[in-house]
Amino acid sequence: MDNKLVFATNNLHKLQEVKNVDGLNFEILSLKDIGFSGDIPEDFDTLKENALQKARFIYDRYGINCFADDTGLEIDPLGGRPGVMSARYAGPQCNPEDNITKVLKELQGKAKRTGRFRTVIALIMDGEETFFEGTVEGGILSEKHGISGFGYDPIFLPACYQQSFAEMDLALKNKISHRAKAVQKLIGFLLEKGG
Ligand code: IMP
Repeated sequence: MDNKLVFATNNLHKLQEVKNVDGLNFEILSLKDIGFSGDIPEDFDTLKENALQKARFIYDRYGINCFADDTGLEIDPLGGRPGVMSARYAGPQCNPEDNITKVLKELQGKAKRTGRFRTVIALIMDGEETFFEGTVEGGILSEKHGISGFGYDPIFLPACYQQSFAEMDLALKNKISHRAKAVQKLIGFLLEKGG
């Protein structure tokens, strides 16, 4: 089996996280490596459909085995929002700062602040589609802590840890994160296939 896989993401943080996951014996190619630049559409209302849409978009054009992820932050007292809307929660042109501000405002005065990151990975290998899911439980802090990572990292405190994702070493985030767990399942699958 060819041990090259394209990770269909334009997010360099994600690419770095996945390249650093322990036990990964595959060469992960970026979109840049295969000569693609531009946005990949994600038009659906579920993480699974969006992940598949992104993976299919690249697989259909380049014919290279490929995976894509879609991630959402599900906050219990907000009924699971922002969820699949996480990237653009504060509006179409918003940045991560706007999203964090909106979440913190909506959580003002709420005692319960539990939630989780959920990642779904869609893999397309020789035309066959397989899905992997990873979650990390935690709570939403009342203000930002730390400057590393991306997205909602500064306000997410993973359960059983005293540091937000943005205060942690990348190596630790990579061991316990939603994406790492989904990637570990992906790796297990690839190893079973003989990779
Ligand atoms: P995406 O559609 O999979 O790129 O993820 C949607 C949004 O979720 C991103 O734009 C980020 O705001 C957020 N997100 C995804 N993964 C992470 C993470 O590991 N930490 C913090 N935020 C994340």
